Amino acid sequence: MLPEYRNEALTDFRKPEAQNAFREALERVKASIGRSYPLVINGEAIETSDHITSTNPARPQEVLGTFAKGTLAHAERAVEAAAAAFEGWKRVPVEERARFLLRAAAAMRRRKHEFSAIMVLEAGKTWVEADADTSEAIDFMEYYARQAVRIADSTSLLTQYPGEQLGLYYIPLGVGIVIPPWNFPLAIPTGMLSAAVVAGNAAVLKPAGQTPWIAYEMCRLFWEQGLPDGVINYLPGPGSVIGASMIENPQTRFISFTGSREVGIDIFQRAAKVQPGQIWLKRTVLEMGGKDAILVDETADLDAAAAGVVASAFGFQGQKCSACSRAIFVDGVYDQLADKVVGLARKLRVDMPDKEAGVDLGPVIDLNAMKTIMGYIELGTQEGKLLLGGEPVSTPEGGYFLPPTIFGDVAPDARIAQEEIFGPVLTLIRARDYEEGLAIANGTEYGLTGAVYSTRRDRLERARADYHVGNLYFNRKCTGAMVGAHPFGGFNMSGTDSKAGGPDYLLLFTQAKSVAEKL
Ligand code: NAP
Ligand code: MG
Repeated sequence: MLPEYRNEALTDFRKPEAQNAFREALERVKASIGRSYPLVINGEAIETSDHITSTNPARPQEVLGTFAKGTLAHAERAVEAAAAAFEGWKRVPVEERARFLLRAAAAMRRRKHEFSAIMVLEAGKTWVEADADTSEAIDFMEYYARQAVRIADSTSLLTQYPGEQLGLYYIPLGVGIVIPPWNFPLAIPTGMLSAAVVAGNAAVLKPAGQTPWIAYEMCRLFWEQGLPDGVINYLPGPGSVIGASMIENPQTRFISFTGSREVGIDIFQRAAKVQPGQIWLKRTVLEMGGKDAILVDETADLDAAAAGVVASAFGFQGQKCSACSRAIFVDGVYDQLADKVVGLARKLRVDMPDKEAGVDLGPVIDLNAMKTIMGYIELGTQEGKLLLGGEPVSTPEGGYFLPPTIFGDVAPDARIAQEEIFGPVLTLIRARDYEEGLAIANGTEYGLTGAVYSTRRDRLERARADYHVGNLYFNRKCTGAMVGAHPFGGFNMSGTDSKAGGPDYLLLFTQAKSVAEKL
């Protein structure tokens, strides 16, 4: 019997000893920058002539590592290797597969700050955000290990049938292509991979182009636990080339993707086409973007609401699918709340994230992101009133720093109120009353997270029924879902609502086999 699952504790950086430990980890990790990393297919390290580099968005000249770049031929080989490894791995008892995850979780816990420190450098995360990312990765492994054992033999759920002995088994699917984004560059790939593998599948991980280093370290952690060759293959390279080809490969059985709406739609369509020689319909688990809103009415605790909006909007520079990018305030408290939100956001400190624990915002992920976000900021000056920020923050080493930026009196159908910006940009929208506010909140093609601040029971219950998002929060921020407590995934163009970190997630990576024997 495993001990009961619990969320991994977050580090309290107010303690000087925690700060010292983190600083030491940063130093250790910095001593290892600039190395070369191979592809790994079937346990074999493979060098390539072409490379991708991973750089530090806070100091773009700093090359953190050079990574082999997979080609179409590697993509073919990786799927082949996973297909071969699957034949053995699927026969390994589920308890044994679960133990791989538990050992990997323990190993990650021992080196927690090192993993977090890599994300400070590679993704521009603050210490607090990086620590939460690593903690979530540990949670996923601990949680899915237990869930896999729970679901594998579900015979006890069946109704007895006279004269027969029955069985219900959740068996694996086959080869999965795992394609994560860069924004939770440890938690998301760890969750997606560990779910696929503990359920008995074999996988190819195609890490996001911006964060191959942390993805490599995560794979290495699994391999070090003695995972059979080919069960997890590591293949960096352009998603639109090698990702697309693996999705089309007839040996691929499922695709597990988290990323943008645009790419999710492309994968959905590509995977739908049955290729010559393919003998199944591919399963797709596609988690996509958001345009999440926090709705505040005139009965709410306004200080709590303002703090919740600011934390949700600007944590990790607004680069969360769950980030609050629309704050909808009812008219009676709009002005007062706008002042409070701007006042709190103004105090946030934008700085080099490796400097110290107290930095609130680091850089955005890369130059492309910076340009896209600046384009929206320019648009925002026509669509609303600029209340804070708006200009890049220049630093000596040329990092991609943007300040918290807020636009007031934005129309609900403005582009900056409809399109995912994925940066530290918040739009404030004025609603006549609660009813209109709820309609505005629901008025996008997304449906990922949302929050309501109100003390009126009838209004909260109205939102419980009619606020159409996968993750709804009352009187708290709309980011920070915890594994096991807040199963995560969205509606409509936010994706297939897989509910990562929830009790049903592993079912997506299995198929049920019902067996009846006449007695
Ligand atoms: P992205 O541009 O869609 O990329 C995600 C992954 O897809 C990357 O590994 C990328 O590889 C790969 N890719 C790109 N084009 C592809 C193609 N044609 N076929 C197959 N794979 C392809 O997203 P991102 O910029 O990394 O991440 C930000 C997005 O993720 C936001 O929209 C955010 O809301 C969303 N997100 C959603 C959730 C959720 O749970 N719903 C969680 C986190 C993030 P390359 O890097 O090589 O292009
Ligand atoms: Mg991208």
